[in-house]
Amino acid sequence: MAADLATITGIEVPTGLLIGGQWSSGRAGTLPVFDPATEEVLAEVADASPEDGLDAVSAAAEALPRWSATPPRVRAECLRRAYQLMTEKSEQLARLMVLENGKALRDARGEILYAAEFFRWYAEEAVRIDGSLMISPSGANRIMVQRQPVGVSYMITPWNFPAAMATRKIGPALAAGCTVVLKPAKETPLTALAVAELLTEAGVPDGVVNVVPTNKPGPLTQAVIADPRVRKLSFTGSTEVGRMLLKQAADYVLNCSMELGGNAPFLVFEDADLDAAVEGAFIAKMRNGGEACTAANRFYVHESVAAAFSAKLAAKLAALHVGPGLEDGVDLGPLVNADTLAKVSALVDSATDDGAEVLTGGHAPNRAGYFYEPTVLDGVPADAAILSEEIFGPVAPIVRFSRQDEAIELANSTEYGLVSYLYSGDLRRALQVAEALEAGMVGINRGVVSDPAAPFGGVKQSGLGREGGHDGLLEYTETKYIAVEW
Ligand code: NAD
Repeated sequence: MAADLATITGIEVPTGLLIGGQWSSGRAGTLPVFDPATEEVLAEVADASPEDGLDAVSAAAEALPRWSATPPRVRAECLRRAYQLMTEKSEQLARLMVLENGKALRDARGEILYAAEFFRWYAEEAVRIDGSLMISPSGANRIMVQRQPVGVSYMITPWNFPAAMATRKIGPALAAGCTVVLKPAKETPLTALAVAELLTEAGVPDGVVNVVPTNKPGPLTQAVIADPRVRKLSFTGSTEVGRMLLKQAADYVLNCSMELGGNAPFLVFEDADLDAAVEGAFIAKMRNGGEACTAANRFYVHESVAAAFSAKLAAKLAALHVGPGLEDGVDLGPLVNADTLAKVSALVDSATDDGAEVLTGGHAPNRAGYFYEPTVLDGVPADAAILSEEIFGPVAPIVRFSRQDEAIELANSTEYGLVSYLYSGDLRRALQVAEALEAGMVGINRGVVSDPAAPFGGVKQSGLGREGGHDGLLEYTETKYIAVEW
């Protein structure tokens, strides 16, 4: 174990595969996990081969009959204990996450508490799996509708929220009576493995949760979803990979939930409380260092307030302290890897080539690690490339508009539809605009929408299905209709 990991005490940090309750080595050897603040190897983690993936499916399939027949109250109590353990160990988990992901400790602490809340929420939902009973229109029989667990569920999670994206899937799956094979992102397997260890400590039986990090997600995933015992694919990641997985899943008519990319517009109308809008913009942009699917990606600001808004936002971003996520006083850590840094740099360079003005930042500092300065770009042309791609970094491009219908059209001019934000002092207008925005979620006078109790998800190419809330539980159930005559 590398020296930095040795500083994490008070929790187990497993580095093996978790299959059927046993920690094992991977048939593909090991994969390195890097610290994005130093670019150095932090740990070596077992690398699962497709055969390991199938062993995990076998373990999940074997555990399924008992777990799905376990009383909902008992399943709920396991999840509740997992919530308690995660909360008690939140500081250690947050520090571990910073090491492999890079985010600032404040963001990591926030994520662990958010992640734990999914266990608490779904502990409460596990005992509320309802159905219905009605008399058929002919009066001849009864129509009984019941929800059953969908079965073995395969989950793929991204690196940007290594804990919350896992618990947002595992929580409802376990509540519904499903068993799980989780494949975390290769950049951040340690957090997922530590959460799995806590679930074991919370009393989740062997085989109910299996975790298989891998350096080659393609072959493992192909083998796993081709196995007829697998009944569900839940994916969080890019639209590009999501599209490819949907094509593969079509061969098996596999039940899919897809939480994909976003390109969130952030609208500021002339009647908005400007300071509140700047505060909301700051959160919507800088939460998780800009590496969030919900991150505000494009700011459309009414021309009468744009200069003041841009200046205030630039001042706030310029004041941020950039550095390794565990250092005192750091607000913004490094990006996760060299590819992400190269993408952010290229998008900013192309925006400035298109005529955008850099109000603050605009470059990577000259130091080791994948750091990028918090950046505000004003006067971005409405057709600039930076507005059509997910930036996934601390960059705020600002575009001016003059009419409400123009702002709505600009906001909707994307293949994505995850979340939109708007600021206005007129609630009637805000609700009308919210209804016109093509997004699965809208924040009105708020820079954050994520809430374990709310249905999170997108329209258009941002995904299929919802996570969180009661809807999130239903994604792990099948509706069974029983026609009864008595
Ligand atoms: P990614 O699509 O590259 O990777 C996501 C996951 O898919 C990882 O676990 C990766 O190993 C796996 N993967 C990659 N290629 C695969 C393949 N061929 N077969 C099977 N699995 C494969 O995305 P990323 O860069 O890790 O994450 C960032 C993306 O995730 C962004 O687009 C972001 O918007 C999106 N995201 C969406 C949500 C949401 O809820 N909508 C939440 C967080 C992140």
